[in-house]
Amino acid sequence: MIRKLLIANRGEIACRIIRTCRRLAIATVAVYSDADRDALHVEQADEAVHIGPAPATESYLRGDAIIDAALRTDADAIHPGYGFLSENAAFAEAVTAAGLRFVGPSAAAIRAMGLKDAAKALMENSGVPVVPGYHGESQDPDLLLAEAERIGFPVLIKARAGGGGKGMRRVDDGMALRDALASAQREALAAFGDGACLIEKYVTHPRHIEIQVFGDDHGHAVHLFERDCSLQRRHQKVIEEAPAPGMSEEMRYAMGEAAVRAARAIGYSGAGTIEFIADASEGLKADRFWFMEMNTRLQVEHPVTEAITGIDLVEWQLRVASGEPLPLRQEDLAINGWAMEARLYAEDAGRGFLPSTGTLTHLHLPEDLARIDSGVRTGDSISPFYDPMIAKIIVHAPDRATALTRLAGALGNVRSTGVATNAAFLRHLAEQPDFAAGRHDTGLIERDLGTLTDSRPAPDEIAACAALVLSGMLEPGASLDPWDSLSGFRLWGQARHFVTLHHRDQHWQVSFASSGDGTWSACVDGKILSLTVRRTGETWRLTVEGVTTMLHIVRDRDQATIFRGGDSWSFDRTGPLDGEHETTGGGDQVVAPMPGLLKVVCVSPGQAVTAGKTVAVMEAMKMELALAAPRDGKIAELLSAEGEQVQEGAVILLLEPEDE
Ligand code: ADP
Ligand code: ADP
Ligand code: MG
Repeated sequence: MIRKLLIANRGEIACRIIRTCRRLAIATVAVYSDADRDALHVEQADEAVHIGPAPATESYLRGDAIIDAALRTDADAIHPGYGFLSENAAFAEAVTAAGLRFVGPSAAAIRAMGLKDAAKALMENSGVPVVPGYHGESQDPDLLLAEAERIGFPVLIKARAGGGGKGMRRVDDGMALRDALASAQREALAAFGDGACLIEKYVTHPRHIEIQVFGDDHGHAVHLFERDCSLQRRHQKVIEEAPAPGMSEEMRYAMGEAAVRAARAIGYSGAGTIEFIADASEGLKADRFWFMEMNTRLQVEHPVTEAITGIDLVEWQLRVASGEPLPLRQEDLAINGWAMEARLYAEDAGRGFLPSTGTLTHLHLPEDLARIDSGVRTGDSISPFYDPMIAKIIVHAPDRATALTRLAGALGNVRSTGVATNAAFLRHLAEQPDFAAGRHDTGLIERDLGTLTDSRPAPDEIAACAALVLSGMLEPGASLDPWDSLSGFRLWGQARHFVTLHHRDQHWQVSFASSGDGTWSACVDGKILSLTVRRTGETWRLTVEGVTTMLHIVRDRDQATIFRGGDSWSFDRTGPLDGEHETTGGGDQVVAPMPGLLKVVCVSPGQAVTAGKTVAVMEAMKMELALAAPRDGKIAELLSAEGEQVQEGAVILLLEPEDE
């Protein structure tokens, strides 16, 4: 067995591999770039080696530096994770040449599957159904146009060296083909250094169903059933599950069979995935699936397979790389229950899924509700250098409906601040009716984008809460509650606070006063409400009109984020009237903090007052509110009269200007 493993990767997958090594008592070596000095994977490994500056091309893609790190630390094997060097045949070769084990297939197998066109030709010859199309050498636009017409529109142009959904264009008619081809070739050349493209029939109602395969060096190959990755955005997976909804035993057998045949065709050793596209226009049919590509590595979504089979795929990888035979035979393998995985990303779904970089000032992941594979924690930053994935959230349940409910529940308990995440989008997706019914295909997200990315506007009581938070009112021991110091005396003026809040494009003017015992009267943009906010452990209970809801509150200086039932709103505070010190809303004025009845005016023009003296009493929300003088001075003018109904912000009286 491997003694010491170097992990040529970062983030969640490095941490996940370390976890299995720990259990198997294999020592671990992390590698890290300048940007990852304090990263979780570095902290978790037994040893760590610095390999270069932040850009991946100068660190995580530097095969020589990584092999050197393995030799220096006396590691005997290298696990490449996914992405980076995982499908780089030259790297696999160099690792072996250095006398180390590569945890993955042979360089020859990687090469055979590296280019989609060659892989398709190979599969065709092995009797595996491939997507009809053109995967010849020629890149002549006229020839490709003729091929597209032969195949029949719509077609999909794909970069043969492609990955991660890059370099793909759907083309619906001959007119659009030339431009689409040129742009796909440009994108492919820039991303993969190889502009060559192939053309495939665009499968309608496409479902992405892939089969996990495993081979060893003793001629064995098995499959570990399917994963359905049909929820995609821009050809990238968003939520994955296993098994696939609507899968018949007949089709599962046919796909598993084809996948194992594909693996055997290249003498595959280790973990791999055969990706198929299925035409689900009439449900899944055993004769309507075709090979798309093979990923010769551990897949991002491998945990759903682990959940339904009870197998640790990384352990199998390490055993196979150590020369052991596969621990189980095909007939020993079975599916148990249903698993789902959601990819939590630092991206702003409401702004076109723009990647969001910055510091994760707070991160709570629902470890109690789901398996969490993550490589970051509170205080870490999401840098622009690497994939902005924060975590994978994986649930397992006896059946699909229960798994979906669990997934939605877990996603509703993701709480983070500092960077935007797609948590709400993922939760909406987990609750999407077509997906819940298993009637989805790869176009679902695009079709339903508006609803899925909708964010609920902040309710008034949430804005009121944010105002309390940002004024420090909910902090432990905050004794700005006038009832604490001035029992029985309703000195509204001293306790009144004005806060201007912003949340995305929304703005609020909030003023509030304590009514004691956690109850506050607040005025949010002219609307009055009474709310009670109490802390119970880590959570808060907000009661409005007899209904209590649970909140989580995170404050980061001038920003407060309030989480409730899976929704969250971040408020920033700014504005001229803002501040706890602002006891009245103006040095020379006494202003109505909320709409109500001006019940009593206690002063008359010319009268001298001292700061804090009650000058008027209002009645609002069946409460009496005492308004106090903002400073020592003389009353200049009364602008509202007793018995008058006043609006929020109405000036009730003026003081004479202060002497300069
Ligand atoms: P899956 O998500 O099914 O595991 P993907 O093809 O989406 O497979 O890629 C997984 C990871 O590998 C992603 O982080 C992706 O960015 C990265 N990746 C995929 N292809 C390439 C490539 N050609 N070059 C660099 N990174 C890649
Ligand atoms: P990548 O290497 O980028 O992962 P794939 O060939 O695996 O490229 O395709 C990525 C995704 O694009 C698939 O998961 C599928 O949703 C979609 N796709 C690929 N080929 C087809 C096709 N022929 N018809 C419809 N959709 C396709
Ligand atoms: Mg793919």
